[in-house]
Amino acid sequence: DGGLNARLAGMLPDIVQQMASRVERGEVARYIPPLARIDPRKFGIAVVLRDNSVLVAGDADEEFSIQSISKVFSLTLALGKKGDGLWSRVGREPSGDAFNSIVLLEHEKGVPRNPFINAGAIVIADVLLATHQPKEAIGEILRFVQSLADDDRISVDRHVAQAEMATGFANAALANLLKANGNLDNLPTHVLGVYHHQCALSMSCRQLARAGFFLTSGGRHPVTCRQVVAPERTRRISALMMTCGHYDGSGDFAFRVGVPAKSGVGGGILAIVPGIASIAVWSPGLNQQGNSLLGTEALEILCRQMNWSVF
Ligand code: GLU
Repeated sequence: DGGLNARLAGMLPDIVQQMASRVERGEVARYIPPLARIDPRKFGIAVVLRDNSVLVAGDADEEFSIQSISKVFSLTLALGKKGDGLWSRVGREPSGDAFNSIVLLEHEKGVPRNPFINAGAIVIADVLLATHQPKEAIGEILRFVQSLADDDRISVDRHVAQAEMATGFANAALANLLKANGNLDNLPTHVLGVYHHQCALSMSCRQLARAGFFLTSGGRHPVTCRQVVAPERTRRISALMMTCGHYDGSGDFAFRVGVPAKSGVGGGILAIVPGIASIAVWSPGLNQQGNSLLGTEALEILCRQMNWSVF
């Protein structure tokens, strides 16, 4: 609606300006070499409303590595393939642990706590690999995201994927432990190939907010209006984003912002205001829990000013 558009059009540049003046911007992820070189002063925000209008400000059209935000899309695809059968292989509880924690996996006999920590997302990648070649599985994820965003320019940054394949020893440990516990059907190296390539999806805030629109609209595609996912499923994915989307910072994010969201170590966050808006924000500097420091702050300001909350 026009009133909402006008308010946001005034608010977003203001938020960009506020964030530009911040000195404390967090630390960019250094453990993935190409991400360590990203300029921490970047900041972008995009909001897609129910009528499919898009409002953007700052570096909203610059692509960044979506990293763990890809876990929302891979989970959606895997649920489409396996339905509720998926939950025998991965849990639905917040971990209270870091994104790459191996501790719980040992305790829980190879069933990861939830699909958004790395161990859980690696199981999801195994489901998507199924009988495919790794290249086909990556292609399927890419095409799904392109179709959700209605933008076939979206691509995988092979440079980022290769860097993570070469340095992702903690993820290799998780995959091997999952395999040892009988919770991977495929070879760990193949599954890691799929997982690291999905994390290396490169998208702008505008593209990401559009790709997340189906969670705002009860599963409807923004352009074709086709039902991509059943409404009940979008509610469940959103519930997991709320409880597990920010790793061991999920409680704090819910407290401060109050809407379902998923972060990635590239500094992006996808946030869903059910029935109202899909928001993507990007600021590369991370807080202690590996979530975008200023991205969280910007969402907190925006949602407070718009009175957006699921509570
Ligand atoms: N590719 C990253 C990893 O597996 C994703 C982590 C994240 O974005 O939180 O370490």
